[in-house]
Amino acid sequence: MNKKIGLFWLRDDFRFIKNHGLIEATSKHNQVVVFYLYKKDIYSDQEAQKWWLSKSLSNFKKKLNELNISLEIVETHSFKIFFDSLLKKKDFAIYWNKVYEPDYLKFDEYLLKILKNKNIIHKRFKGNALNEIHEVKKGDGTPFKVFTPFWRTAEKFFSEKIPPKERAIKKCINKKNYFKNCINAEKILPKKDWFKNFEKIWCPDELHALKELQNFVKERITNYSEGRNFPNIVGTSKLSPFIKFGQLHVETIWDECIKKKSKTIGTSKFLTEIGWREFNHSLINHFPHMLKSNYSKKFDKFPWQKNSKFLNAWKKGLTGYPIVDAGMRELYSTGWMHNRVRMIVGSFLVKHLLINWKEGEKYFRNCLLDYSPASNVAGWQWVAGCGADAAPYFRIFNPILQGEKFDKEGEYVKRWLPELKDLSKKFIHKPWELKDEKFKLGRDYPYPIVKHEEARLKALNAFKKI
Ligand SMILES: Cc1cc2nc3c(=O)[nH]c(=O)nc-3n(C[C@H](O)[C@H](O)[C@H](O)COP(=O)(O)OP(=O)(O)OC[C@H]3O[C@@H](n4cnc5c(N)ncnc54)[C@H](O)[C@@H]3O)c2cc1C
Repeated sequence: MNKKIGLFWLRDDFRFIKNHGLIEATSKHNQVVVFYLYKKDIYSDQEAQKWWLSKSLSNFKKKLNELNISLEIVETHSFKIFFDSLLKKKDFAIYWNKVYEPDYLKFDEYLLKILKNKNIIHKRFKGNALNEIHEVKKGDGTPFKVFTPFWRTAEKFFSEKIPPKERAIKKCINKKNYFKNCINAEKILPKKDWFKNFEKIWCPDELHALKELQNFVKERITNYSEGRNFPNIVGTSKLSPFIKFGQLHVETIWDECIKKKSKTIGTSKFLTEIGWREFNHSLINHFPHMLKSNYSKKFDKFPWQKNSKFLNAWKKGLTGYPIVDAGMRELYSTGWMHNRVRMIVGSFLVKHLLINWKEGEKYFRNCLLDYSPASNVAGWQWVAGCGADAAPYFRIFNPILQGEKFDKEGEYVKRWLPELKDLSKKFIHKPWELKDEKFKLGRDYPYPIVKHEEARLKALNAFKKI
């Protein structure tokens, strides 16, 4: 055992299983301190995630306490300033896992170099991914830009790996505190308490995540291929926030899926979605410009329109298109939105309203509990048509037909738009066609802010300009 204190830098790894850095720290040191660096500016536009983060920290702290490990939260403006000060000490060794985002990986390089120069014991481990970014490349060594060949290669590469021996976390001899001026997890909570509803729906904790995963594999994965399209039912796993914050490692998900004796179409489809997450991480690391601007440069000339009235109506779920409005209200109320509806509301913003995808990306970033830079920018650019392997811009979702196809009875719409609860199936996705004294458009529900056919033609004309 090493006499020095073992520090574990906690980032998106709120778990014991497959938390390689933390496991290593407890195997090498009798005393371990886990620390989280809270950078306010990172979370300044991720309000919903402040709730998930705060709860994850409190829950993880309790679990770590049982193992005589303390969790300390340090507020800092800069990782560099924090580490420059920490590295004046020499009484510790440090461990952490990768986060597959360019800024984190760049900082890792800086940190690895100075730790080496100062002769401080350290080790960085694989993060929450199936493969390392550099492991999946085309035959000529260049990165994949198309999903299907990427996933074919990535899936094969991962399934042929010899799984490392599973190691478990160890209990420490006694608990120690290390950092000064730490803050409480409650300090991170958003100022406004709109998030109270989240508490009724989510439980940001590893054990809970594992139960949800097992339940999904047992009950829903077989029908996932079909079920995932319908927002009125729980057809998907709803594991995304747990994956983002690392309560679940994607390898654990893989293991649980292949444990099932017969691999169904549902299982393959589900693992393909995990593949999209891997693809998005590969993209942002090979093409980091896409985190801030269009992956496809030709979209830099797209004639986006600024229209705060339209943008606000979209955010509030008051566009007059029920499926769009239901999605936006689900997002605000629960911190999550069904994938099909994310595509519909996204398409509506960039194509019907001609508003830059960056506005949608920003709003999602603030409201999604599962917000991840890779999947959010890639998702938005997929919808807008400017991403890698994206939906072509000229394929414009019709919000009425989408509603009628994927929410046939209007159950999803009625759940989120109580003002439409008495409408029949015939009118639920086009309430403007209803002529009934009891229901008045403009009073009970907004008029559509744009007309679908006109907006579609306008979008196609705008696209012609690029
Ligand atoms: C405009 C837009 C923005 C998005 N922003 C995000 C985001 O910030 N964070 C995020 O995790 N996902 C994002 N997605 C992808 C997808 O909508 C969510 O991952 C999914 O809805 C989460 O629900 P689930 O856990 O039930 O998914 P499931 O269908 O059960 O899928 C399992 C897991 O696979 C991954 N996954 C599924 N679909 C996708 C996808 N299309 N792209 C990448 N990974 C996927 C997620 O980790 C998900 O938890 C976005 C999609 C769009 C269209």
